[in-house]
Amino acid sequence: MPEGHTLHRLAAQIEDLFVGRLWRVSSPQGRFAAGAGRLDGRVPQRAEAWGKQLFVHLGADIWQVHLGLYGAVSFRGDEHFAGAPTLGAPRARLEPPTVRRDEDGWVIPEPPRGAVRARLRTEHGWADLRGPATCAVLSVPEYERVVARLGPDPLREQSDAAPPDEGRPHGGPSGLEAFARRLARRRIPIAQALMDQSIIAGVGNIYRAESLFLERLDPSLPAADLSAESVAALWRRLGVQLRDGVAEGVIRTLRPEDASRHDPARRHWVYQHQGTPCLRCGAVLAVRELQGRSLYWCPGCQG
Ligand SMILES: [Zn+2]
Repeated sequence: MPEGHTLHRLAAQIEDLFVGRLWRVSSPQGRFAAGAGRLDGRVPQRAEAWGKQLFVHLGADIWQVHLGLYGAVSFRGDEHFAGAPTLGAPRARLEPPTVRRDEDGWVIPEPPRGAVRARLRTEHGWADLRGPATCAVLSVPEYERVVARLGPDPLREQSDAAPPDEGRPHGGPSGLEAFARRLARRRIPIAQALMDQSIIAGVGNIYRAESLFLERLDPSLPAADLSAESVAALWRRLGVQLRDGVAEGVIRTLRPEDASRHDPARRHWVYQHQGTPCLRCGAVLAVRELQGRSLYWCPGCQG
């Protein structure tokens, strides 16, 4: 599943390519036809990510996308339509399109391939959303209810240097405080708490495993039992890891300088390395199911 860094990259790319320009919105597959009709022919004003959700603001209407396990957005267009070709679940790469333009000078999109839930067009290209868990148009009160249920997102601490407008209850400089408050109320294992989007938004399976390993935290420790120092260190660690993910476009928690003694291509300390020796202590890395997701950790040096 795409973790928060992918959604922040997606928001930035939609901001670059669509915000402030007239867009056309359709639903070639048909399942988002009514929503597309509400968004079509307008000018999006702002795109933002909060955890694993994307919101595109058009005045009183807000387009909400959650990619879920399988969702992805592909981008195709002319030389002014630059950016990552696909964001989300892995897809086959396509050759750049042969650009043809209609009488208004707009790039003519290729016929939709597969089940395209939403197609966004602007003068210079188009983006296709496939396979999302959520694709909906929200009113402002509905949007406010959705974000009020989300925990703080470490990636919003930087981008939220903007004025504290539009009813953002958390995610700004108080992100750590909000995270600490939410953990203190819960007896669930910290590994489960990190996956709960109402406690912290944007963390998925890889960042959870890798941050707990680097902070030497036992994944089964009750969330409320973490010391204030551990909570702060974990928050900072996740912020660094997520920001690296935004910059690099991949999750690389094992830095090349740490990996070089082993396999320079290896990107993770513990995620999907069960049964092999821990790079820090030599114990055999473990995996178990927790709430239906695989949890990777080192029984030797965590806790
Ligand atoms: Zn270890």
